[in-house]
Amino acid sequence: MTGVLDARDRDEAVRALAAGPLDVLVIGGGITGAGAALDAASRGLRVGLVESRDLAAGTSSRSSKLIHGGLRYLEQGDFKLVREALRERDLLVSRLAPHLVRPVPFLYPLYRKVVERPYVGAGLVIYDAMEGVKRPVPHHRHLTTRGALRRAPALRPDRLAGAMVYYDAQVDDARYTVTVARTAARYGATVVTRATATSLLRDGSRVTGASVLDEESGRVFDVRAARVIVCAGVWSDLVHEASGVRAGYQVRMSKGVHLVMPRSAIDADTGMIVRTSKSVLFFIPWDTRWIVGTTDTDWSGDRAEPAVTPEDVDYILGEANRVLARPLTRADVLAVYAGLRPLVAEPTVESRAGDKGGESRAGDKRGESRAGDRAGDKDGEKPTTKLSREHVVDAPLPGLVSIAGGKFTTYRLMARDVVDAATAGLPGQVPASVTSLLPLLGADGLPAVRASARRLADDYGVPAAVAGHLIDRYGSLATEVLALIRADRSLGQPLLGGFAYLRAEVAYAVSHEGALHVEDVLARRVRLLIESPDAGVPAAPEVVAIMAGLLGWNRRRRAAELRRYQDFAAANAAALTATGPVPEVESAAPIPA
Ligand SMILES: Cc1cc2nc3c(=O)[nH]c(=O)nc-3n(C[C@H](O)[C@H](O)[C@H](O)COP(=O)(O)OP(=O)(O)OC[C@H]3O[C@@H](n4cnc5c(N)ncnc54)[C@H](O)[C@@H]3O)c2cc1C
Repeated sequence: MTGVLDARDRDEAVRALAAGPLDVLVIGGGITGAGAALDAASRGLRVGLVESRDLAAGTSSRSSKLIHGGLRYLEQGDFKLVREALRERDLLVSRLAPHLVRPVPFLYPLYRKVVERPYVGAGLVIYDAMEGVKRPVPHHRHLTTRGALRRAPALRPDRLAGAMVYYDAQVDDARYTVTVARTAARYGATVVTRATATSLLRDGSRVTGASVLDEESGRVFDVRAARVIVCAGVWSDLVHEASGVRAGYQVRMSKGVHLVMPRSAIDADTGMIVRTSKSVLFFIPWDTRWIVGTTDTDWSGDRAEPAVTPEDVDYILGEANRVLARPLTRADVLAVYAGLRPLVAEPTVESRAGDKGGESRAGDKRGESRAGDRAGDKDGEKPTTKLSREHVVDAPLPGLVSIAGGKFTTYRLMARDVVDAATAGLPGQVPASVTSLLPLLGADGLPAVRASARRLADDYGVPAAVAGHLIDRYGSLATEVLALIRADRSLGQPLLGGFAYLRAEVAYAVSHEGALHVEDVLARRVRLLIESPDAGVPAAPEVVAIMAGLLGWNRRRRAAELRRYQDFAAANAAALTATGPVPEVESAAPIPA
């Protein structure tokens, strides 16, 4: 129980799952599934998790990367969601993951002199007041127009009537998800990626496990478990349908696109949030980059790699250009990415009446934070911006519990709710969730590691900047990466010119973070897929070489892995090849109130 996900031990992990029986099998290795595995394992249960691709390969690596209450939801009156999310944000920043979740300021420009400041100011007073008593992030502040332009010279000065600055937090979503999964493994969970649950095992109406396809070997094996928890995000309906299960909700997919740009494209020393005709647009500082987004549109195409269209890119550029003095063009965009929100659209009363086909039902526990009882809502007709971000827990069959909706920020509460629902009725007393008390791997001893950065650099023979970079990304686990460098000095070299990532981080991704393919490394363990103008392709041969040494790949396999990543990166870049001027966004008011 070390919290190490060593890709070389995968076969052993598969054997452990197949040997069973488990108390809980989790399907899906996004933040919800990783969180559920951690919650259940830390209650002392025998837990397995299967993920069909890589940890966080779905929505959980494609978010806005904010740990936030969501000002927008406050305006929509979703007070409970905002309060819970803010409390979670503070817990993560201060105790559970201070190495991964960091406060970030956001400037909210004001454009209507008289009405907007009191309105937004009152909202931010409520936002700040909803936190717990101990505040790990500063209060909001008012800025004059001059003050706003000092922080963000990029803003158009005409019509600007001052600004507010408030704080939220940000995270590397994929790194966070992997760390939660590793922490689950630390408490005994068995985590296997590239393993797809193809159908549920049944004993009468009771679900007793899942049949699993090992995507690496092509073998199929059964995993027996007293409870199965489906955390499959936008794939939930497919998992249910594959076994003829009719759940009490359906997932509606909403696509969100982000553009990644160099910091030089927008002159500001703070994040920014601006209103758009449909929702809000974030300018999020991301190391040497900006992440700008997002969109919110219905989606019914490919779940694994939702396409970014030229219209998506133009919409974001157009909205950004309404507030920026120097208009952005497509040439400013280094990369794009899209994710799918697994929003919950409850079936109408009519469709629910025919549900379940007479199958016995283990109870229908909605997540406590579900926004009231909205049976009868025609969620299917609402725009996706209006759909609730709260989560739903459903128990459609004995032995089976399923969860969808929610936000990255509230994953811990979602995990608690779904494990509570799943373990109701298990023999013996299952303890209550303890995750609010469990720092993630790397959080332990963080202040001491930060204070010792210089000494660590000396001890391991690396420049201070390298030690600082590793502590920033891995917290107290940085010493594990440094140990790899001490054993092989060549691993201390940069992976790709212009980026701080090291070759050691590739080796560590394989030996400690379960990376099986080049994409796992370049898309999620380091973020070159979205940070580098060429999707990290120039680093791919180096990654292949390091992985091949550890995983024993022969020449053919090396060539295949390289090609696979190049194809993946090319598909990702397709949306940026569109030409022509960025159309102006048509919208009545400059900034709608
Ligand atoms: C554009 C965008 C921006 C967002 N921004 C934010 C934000 O800033 N802050 C915030 O709090 N939230 C944000 N969210 C919401 C948040 O990202 C999601 O709620 C969260 O990531 C969903 O996680 P999940 O684990 O439920 O789903 P996923 O991450 O999609 O995980 C589901 C996993 O299940 C796996 N799977 C599917 N079928 C099977 C099977 N049969 N067997 C095994 N595995 C299977 C998939 O491969 C996938 O990895 C955003 C979402 C989007 C789309």
